[in-house]
Amino acid sequence: MSILRVEDVVSGYGSMEVLHGVSLGVEEGQIVSLLGPNGSGKTTLLRTVFGILSPWKGKIYFKGEDISGIAAERIARIGMGYVPQEENIFPSLTVQENLEMGAFIREDDWQPRLEEVYELFPDLTDRRKSRAGELSGGMRQMLAIGRALMLNPELLLLDEPSTGLAPRLVDAIFERIVKLKEQGVTVFLVEQNAQALQIPDKAYILEGGEKKAEGGAQELLEDAEIGRLYLGR
Ligand code: ADP
Repeated sequence: MSILRVEDVVSGYGSMEVLHGVSLGVEEGQIVSLLGPNGSGKTTLLRTVFGILSPWKGKIYFKGEDISGIAAERIARIGMGYVPQEENIFPSLTVQENLEMGAFIREDDWQPRLEEVYELFPDLTDRRKSRAGELSGGMRQMLAIGRALMLNPELLLLDEPSTGLAPRLVDAIFERIVKLKEQGVTVFLVEQNAQALQIPDKAYILEGGEKKAEGGAQELLEDAEIGRLYLGR
């Protein structure tokens, strides 16, 4: 079953149309990647899915429910998490405080979830009391993901978690994403980096606000023309 369906979505900023009618689906339990060059509209798509932007046209369904135009906070409450590319942590707060902030709309006992997040990211456990602003780039990304996980999302939207990281750290982040999938979280992973084609079950290529290709990750990885045209290879 598709946990997320985007149907013919048109969206943008002010009078500038960025997405010109994009359709795609994310199957429950999978990692699905959205790749494409800088400026192709990937972040705009995530913002539209998560309710930060309203679609001008088209529909978005989450778990079968029409969420088009619904505010982000309500979308978060029904099980979707979003980790933006930037400004995704509070640098002046500690690691622990950042994770606690992630649980702010929970009214139940979130302490057990905190321990699960620390189990997934053991390096964060040692840095519980450090200010987030003092962490390395890789650790900050882990913290940003951990913060979103505090709400136990069924679907997690990740915007280029590998940006600016050394290849070894990119692998470490991707390993954690695979682990999340094993724990039952569905992941929609936006990346510019073709390295991201190593982990998804399925991938889409976006360019100029239009879907240019879709298929199994391996299939796209082996397609020389796609690599040359859209992935800078
Ligand atoms: P990508 O994530 O693929 O790099 P974006 O969705 O960030 O692409 O950007 C798509 C287009 O939208 C670009 O032309 C970009 O300049 C424009 N854009 C992005 N954010 C804004 C914004 N807040 N206001 C106006 N235009 C924006």
